Amino acid sequence: MKSVSHKQQTVAEGSIVRVMVPRALPSMLDYRWCGSEPPQVGALVSIPVGRQGCHGMVVEVLETSPFQNLKNAEPLAGVPALAAITAAFYRWVARYTLSAPGDPLRAALPKAQVPPEPAKPVVYGVGQLPEKLTTQRQAVFEAAAVPATASDLAKRAGVSSCVVKRLVESGSLVPVEVDDRAEFVLDTHLAVLTEDQQHAADAIQKSVRNASFKPFLLDGVTGSGKTEVYFHVIADLLQGEVDGQALVMVPEIALTPQWLQRFEEQFGFKPVVWHANITDVQRQRAWWQVHCGEARVVVGARSALFLPFRNLKLVVVDEEHDPSYKQDEVFRYHGRDMGVALAQHWQCPAVLASATPSLETWQNAQQRKYQRLELKKRHGNNMMPPIHLVDLKAEKLEKNKFLSDSVQQEIKAALERQEQSLIFLNRRGNAPLLLCTACGYRRDCPSCDATLTVHGDKLQCHHCGLTEPWPDTCPSCHEADTWRMYGPGTRRLVHEVQEVFPDVRLAIADSDAVHTPAQQRELVRQIQEQQVDIVIGTQMMAKGHHFPNLTLAAVIDGDMGLAHGDVRAAEKTFQLLTQVAGRAGRGEKAGKVLVQTYQPEQPLFQHLKDYNRLAFYEHELALRQEWHDPPFGRQIALVVDGLDEKLVKKSAEVLAQKAPETKGIIVLGPAPAPLAKLRDRYRYRLLVKGVVPLQKYVKSWLENTPIPQKIRVVVDVDPHSYF
Ligand code: ADP
Ligand code: ZN
Repeated sequence: MKSVSHKQQTVAEGSIVRVMVPRALPSMLDYRWCGSEPPQVGALVSIPVGRQGCHGMVVEVLETSPFQNLKNAEPLAGVPALAAITAAFYRWVARYTLSAPGDPLRAALPKAQVPPEPAKPVVYGVGQLPEKLTTQRQAVFEAAAVPATASDLAKRAGVSSCVVKRLVESGSLVPVEVDDRAEFVLDTHLAVLTEDQQHAADAIQKSVRNASFKPFLLDGVTGSGKTEVYFHVIADLLQGEVDGQALVMVPEIALTPQWLQRFEEQFGFKPVVWHANITDVQRQRAWWQVHCGEARVVVGARSALFLPFRNLKLVVVDEEHDPSYKQDEVFRYHGRDMGVALAQHWQCPAVLASATPSLETWQNAQQRKYQRLELKKRHGNNMMPPIHLVDLKAEKLEKNKFLSDSVQQEIKAALERQEQSLIFLNRRGNAPLLLCTACGYRRDCPSCDATLTVHGDKLQCHHCGLTEPWPDTCPSCHEADTWRMYGPGTRRLVHEVQEVFPDVRLAIADSDAVHTPAQQRELVRQIQEQQVDIVIGTQMMAKGHHFPNLTLAAVIDGDMGLAHGDVRAAEKTFQLLTQVAGRAGRGEKAGKVLVQTYQPEQPLFQHLKDYNRLAFYEHELALRQEWHDPPFGRQIALVVDGLDEKLVKKSAEVLAQKAPETKGIIVLGPAPAPLAKLRDRYRYRLLVKGVVPLQKYVKSWLENTPIPQKIRVVVDVDPHSYF
């Protein structure tokens, strides 16, 4: 915030507060503190903003403010302040990501309000003896010797809730106060660790106990016991610390009912869960449980970072390489990187777990900035299945078919052995392209520079969500029945598989077919109980599941991720396909993996086939170093967009001209974005590259370049998508 000294007014010390507002405002706001106690950083306040009010958090206590006529900030009664560390972390994240200063607070309080504290369930104990003591009443009365909620008492006594209700009305059961924080009894059922695993757990535990920041790379193939290791560390923390908290971050799609069940079985309690699809009530409860310290273990997707921890002692980022950690909308941040920063703020260890670490993390481990803990073996010594490349240049596919002969033969063999197969294709829907065979007209999204994807009898844009019916006639040549689908999608594969194997039992695992936990549980059950022969799945199937009878994984389009100008394209493909390979042959039976590709000679595929991760990483790192790409250089992407194409182009050019000359920093572009139009807005990209932190440079550049009102400049620090 710029100071405007001639307007400066002096107010008595400690009565002005600077407040972070959970809204998309360009700055924080100053208010007059009107609490009876002195203000403190982290205090939650009610403030007028514009015409409405909202809640905010005090980040600074000031002596003076450059602004006059300050409005009042009322402390929220009965709501303890957030930890000063949380306030510092929020500020750091906003500065690092060049986001609106209130964005981190907004991630935890999307409604710009602190949710009301959920009412504590009333706990009943024994009151006066009932006049008429039926057997049912007696059972309840006895059960209430240990106070519990009405529904728990009913359950314990095996009676209906009416019986309990009547006892409450007659005063035979009375509400009692219990200190529920005191009785956290840990009842763990953990595996005995192997030597490697124990060594890793010891190293992390040591730094939990020392209360020092230390990042670890927990490196081991799928099934080597990484989860087992951090479960041990968490158990140790829960035993040793009176109120220490642990945060486990997992990619949203890996946060399955199976994961939670495993946690509950091993810990004897449920963790607090946080992700985009929990209900408002769950969100409210979770926020408060974390805030009051009752939540000891939180498992969540990336935005769990912004929960109001009280005493955080451990941050785990599982599958740390997973692309979903990068949020690419509105508030752009990388969950893994912010997780490490969170640990640094709390002075606790950060454990990044992966079988295929990101090159950023790998390089940090190489440079000894992170300590690498290696788990060398798969538990039970299961071998990774051999990977075979299917060269689609040699083995030609039939027109509009996607299963090569090799893949068909292997599926047939698996069926004969009564084993299951996974057909992996990371694209849902029927086909990515619809063409008119008479005139060549291509059905595009009217709002985006993208083709519409066929979903059954509908067409859909995967960028803006537009859905329209399949057109009867071609809008261009007006012929009927001329449409033809091109390219594969999961639904289309279903037809092909059914043609080749008419009697198989098929399941589809993509986000069109499976979007609730119940559907997911059902799918997993069907596969586990072998009611399914072939699963056709997207990345939803790549993660976490253990299906002992699934012995074949066939990747339909190994080249799919390589098409766009993404510096991480090869890395992401290597990681994803390694994960898919890990799905085959996880039980006693040997597995096999087939990858269809048009470019088997690429180092990516050669190293993948040999499971030679090190060689692939060295190859990739050498390329990145040559081009000063991450992890050797830093990047900030700027996307200039607006409704008027000419104005967008002009503004992007002006912006580029105004880029200050600085040694070691270059600005590339502007160029039309690969996705040149999105939701009716035209887009141009600039890329800032350098070997030093670039935030200050970009910030002052943007502050000193006037941007037309109708134009938006979106800033993406450490971009992971290049559309
Ligand atoms: P990762 O997280 O590396 O994929 P997991 O921790 O999920 O590996 O372990 C894979 C499987 O092996 C799980 O079923 C787990 O319970 C089992 N496992 C791992 N380590 C041990 C151990 N020391 N004792 C018994 N079972 C183990
Ligand atoms: Zn669209």
